[in-house]
Amino acid sequence: MPDLPPKLRARLQAEARLGALPVALATDSSDGFTRKYLLRLDDAERIETVLMRFTGRVTACISSQVGCAMGCVFCATGQMGYTRHLTPGEIVAQAVHVARQLRLPTLSSQLPTAPAAGASAAAPERLRNIVLMGMGEPLHNYDAVMHAIDIMRDEAGLALGGERITLSTVGVVPGILRLAQERRPLHLAVSLHAATQAERAALVPAARKWPLDELMAACRTYSTTTGRRIFYEWTLIDGQNDTPDHARAVGALLRDLPAQVNLIPLNPTSGYAGTPTPSAAARAFQKILADEFKLPSTVRQRRGIDIAAGCGQLAVTASA
Ligand code: SAH
Ligand code: SF4
Repeated sequence: MPDLPPKLRARLQAEARLGALPVALATDSSDGFTRKYLLRLDDAERIETVLMRFTGRVTACISSQVGCAMGCVFCATGQMGYTRHLTPGEIVAQAVHVARQLRLPTLSSQLPTAPAAGASAAAPERLRNIVLMGMGEPLHNYDAVMHAIDIMRDEAGLALGGERITLSTVGVVPGILRLAQERRPLHLAVSLHAATQAERAALVPAARKWPLDELMAACRTYSTTTGRRIFYEWTLIDGQNDTPDHARAVGALLRDLPAQVNLIPLNPTSGYAGTPTPSAAARAFQKILADEFKLPSTVRQRRGIDIAAGCGQLAVTASA
């Protein structure tokens, strides 16, 4: 680019990077709607990004760190430990990668087929939603994640509205308070999994640092300051946190908060022996929340389990 001033050229040379993250592996789920990408970073570390198709929308589940330091017992990313934070560029590059995949006609014809309902097979699909629910704890890498979100929201970036971005946190209290203070336009999801400090700390070691009462106080501040409802995630583990008593405990905990509960039946990981709650018990759990507490809830659709692309299954091993 000889027409640029030499100073700017030198700065671009030093600071900017052109090009996409190379795909080390792409795997399709037999569910027909999920594709997982293993992307290689410049230092040869690898991360996973998942493209999910739901009726009428495409969602990218993106990573914020290589590994995770939070150590949740049932999570494959937690089981692999923490390597490093991702840069804003590496976070945005995952969303750009998925958006480009959708735009390339040759590649999109190889992608899993979209649900038939209402969608024309020829219509190009656009990336509609981003969930920061891949590898890593986004609020542990706060500055880079917010920088990336700003770029994804920018008209000159991916022009995604803040209502299209959901960030899930294990419950990093200072990060939740900062999100509230900065009034960041996004949807917040908080991983709860248990309604008492002792039960939660057994599943989520980070709860020892940020105890349940402090977490709930931060969530209250967030909802009061922003006027926003929080999604509370609850991984349903058979016999562990899925009884009617557990449902009543979470109902009572969230009683006067603007909340929706997202129930996620446990996905298998090599380091945890638990099994998922059967669907009848999940429905009974939902019914208690609805009937006794007027608390809305959903049971998350299971996606990409056969290719380990489901919630909590993302990890990179030496052989991957
Ligand atoms: N670090 C963030 C976001 C990534 S995990 C967080 O923990 O919130 C996204 C969601 O998947 C979290 O609610 C997490 O608790 C849940 N999860 C982790 N492992 C899981 C598993 N094996 N089965 C089902 N959900 C799981
Ligand atoms: Fe990290 Fe989230 Fe996995 Fe916990 S559930 S180990 S915070 S990625």
